[in-house]
Parts: sequence; structure tokens; C-alpha cells
Amino acid sequence: MSRVHNFSAGPAALPIDVLDRIREDIPDWQGTGMSVMEVSHRSKNFVELAARCETNLRRLLSIPDNYSVLWAQGGATMQMAVAPLNLAHPGDTIDFVQTGSWGKKAAREARKFCNVNIVADSSDKDFTYIPDESSWQLSDDAAFLHITSNETIAGVEFHFVPSSDVPLVADMSSTILSRPIDVGRYGVIYAGAQKNIGPAGITLVIVRDDLLEPVRDSLPHLLMWKSYAESDSMTNTPPTFAWYVADLVMQHLLNEGGLDAMAETNQRKASKLYTAIDGSGFYSNPVAEDCRSWMNVPFVLADASIDTMFLEAALAAGLTNLKGHRSVGGMRASIYNAVAEESVDALIAFMVEFERTHG
Ligand SMILES: *Cc1c(COP(=O)(O)O)cnc(C)c1O
Repeated sequence: MSRVHNFSAGPAALPIDVLDRIREDIPDWQGTGMSVMEVSHRSKNFVELAARCETNLRRLLSIPDNYSVLWAQGGATMQMAVAPLNLAHPGDTIDFVQTGSWGKKAAREARKFCNVNIVADSSDKDFTYIPDESSWQLSDDAAFLHITSNETIAGVEFHFVPSSDVPLVADMSSTILSRPIDVGRYGVIYAGAQKNIGPAGITLVIVRDDLLEPVRDSLPHLLMWKSYAESDSMTNTPPTFAWYVADLVMQHLLNEGGLDAMAETNQRKASKLYTAIDGSGFYSNPVAEDCRSWMNVPFVLADASIDTMFLEAALAAGLTNLKGHRSVGGMRASIYNAVAEESVDALIAFMVEFERTHG
């Protein structure tokens, strides 16, 4: 067996001990004589799995008791519509801080259902910074304020929690579980699983309980957070395999020392990669230093005509998925929780050598 250094933006790397465990579990999960994919979500073993997963997630994130943990399908993208539908009447205004492509997408979705006020927008500099909070043009009466905590494409991350009089709704798809967060400062947190939680197909939503009641009547059952809260996220058949893997990832994170330990390692990984980029005359990252992402590190080569050569040589060295998003070009190294520090070290060593021979 040979494993590569996988810098995929998502679906992304999973911890090797989780993968080993899945392989062992597949034919006969917990002595049931069946794989987890073949058992009822209402069975005792699966209901226990769901409860354990929530308990462990609550421990990891120190989620206060007045918040519900929901597991949905449809990805973070679905929640971009679900949040306005649950929290805002058709004539209401939602405030958006637009610091990248995902936030733009969320605002576009919300506009179908409500008024949207862009309180700040960094597109004038290709989404490479977060406008100073003091300059945000907040509405007087917004239903909520939406941020994208980590913009996965340009690599821009909030290293602070904005203050807000209205509920703060955050898309944390590419940063959740990378460090401790103060859940109590948020109204709603949502995240697709395929970066730091598990495989694609399941979506985490954390909702403050007073926001569970939808403001609109007659929403489809599966678009109401309340339905999930009332059914322990078993409103209909949940994505059982993805949930099972998420449960293993939570156990893995606790065994690794929890989110303080993750934060320490993640910060160190990111910091050595940025230092290598900044210290070279060949690679560069355009993002303002105070909001550089710990999870997604985009960089360009001084000579874009050898991008393909860089990617081919990287692949030959066992470093995969380094091509930047098509909208920004260049390279991007996604260094989520499951990307080991040795992988970052291998990338840096490769970059140094490539610069020496081609720079
Ligand atoms: C990956 C990602 C999404 C998309 O998630 P889906 O689960 O594919 O809908 C949305 N927002 C951010 C910040 C992401 O990184």
C-alpha cells in the first residue's frame, strides 16, 4: 500500500487510523454480522453511534446546552438557502460580509428569499483581505449577519469573531474542528463534512435553540431545522455511512488531544508553509497577514508558464491535489487536520528543491 501526501481542498484527507478502522469494521460491524451500511438507522447500535458522535462533538467544541446539534444532507450549499428560509421573512434583510466566493454564493442564494445587504466586500482586491470591522455598513434590523469563517478558495480566514446584535450565522465548512471556537458567540454554525469532519454526504448544523422555530409557515419538512432537532436528525433516512465515519473522526480527535492540540499543530503547519513562501523569491501568497488561512494556503509561482511542470513534478514526488481553484489559478495546499505535519514538511522540501532547479 502506498499513501500520497494529499492536499485536496475537499473531499479531503482522512486520518489513516480511521481508514484502517473502517476496513476492519466493514464486513462485521460491532458483532452484528453486517456492515454499518446494511443496518437500520433505528437499530440500537446505530442510535448509540449517533448519540456518541454528538456527545464527542459537544466535548470537542464545548457546545453550550442551549444549542442543538443537527446532521443534514445537501451540504453547506443547502444551508445557504435553509438559513434564510428559517430565520428571515421574505421582506427581511440579511447582512452579508463577502470575503470570498463561498460568501458570494451564500448571498446569491439568500437573495432568492430576502433582501441582502452586503455590509463589506473585499472583491476589489480579489478577496485577499477582510475589511476592517469598523467599516462594515450594518443594517439596523437585519434578520442575521452571515460570514464565511474560512474562504476555502482564496485562503482567507477570520481570526476573530465579529460582534453582532443580531444572530451571527457562519459557514465553517473548511475550518470547523481545526481549533477551539466560542460557539456561544454564534446563532448558527454550518459545515459540510468533507474537509474536517468526514466523507461528503453529511452536513453539520449547530443551532441556538431559540432559533429553531422557523419564521415562515409551510416549509418543506427537510428544510426546517426544527424537524431535525425533534427527530435526533432522523427525520428521514440519514447518510449512515458518512455519519459512522464522522463518529470515528470525533473519537480520533479526542484521542489526539482535542482541539487545543489540533490548533497547535495546525498553526505550526500553516506558519512554516507561509514562512517558506514569504522567504522565497519564487513563490508568493497575496493574502493579508492578519487573515491568512490555517487550512488553505494558495500560492503562485513567479513564472506561471511552469505551473504544469510544478504540478507534474509534485505528483511524481507523491504530492497530490496542489492545483489552485480554477477561478484563481496557481497552487493551493489544503492542510486540514488529517494532513500530517510530515506532509507539509515534504511539500516545503519539494518547493525548495523545485525553486533551486527551476527558479
Ligand atoms: C466546501 C465548501 C462549501 C461547499 O460545501 P458543499 O458541502 O459542497 O455544499 C461551502 N462553503 C465553504 C466555505 C466550503 O469550503
